[in-house]
Amino acid sequence: MKKCPNCNAMLDDEVIFCSNCGSRFPDMPDPSGKPPKGSSKKGLKWLFIVIPVIVLLAAAGVITVLVLKGSNKSAKL
Ligand SMILES: [Zn+2]
Repeated sequence: MKKCPNCNAMLDDEVIFCSNCGSRFPDMPDPSGKPPKGSSKKGLKWLFIVIPVIVLLAAAGVITVLVLKGSNKSAKL
């Protein structure tokens, strides 16, 4: 639960607008509440696997393009 800073109505953590007074909440986490579910450090673990794979694939793609360009040039000449 969080409190509306405008009208002090108690609302669910998921709501973006106060259902009582209609004011919009800032994107600040509840200082007294728990962190948002699923967005802890555990969720970032996959990045350390995915990012190197993407970098390797990008490098492989660039090398492939360069090799293909080079072979095209030599084929024309
Ligand atoms: Zn309100």
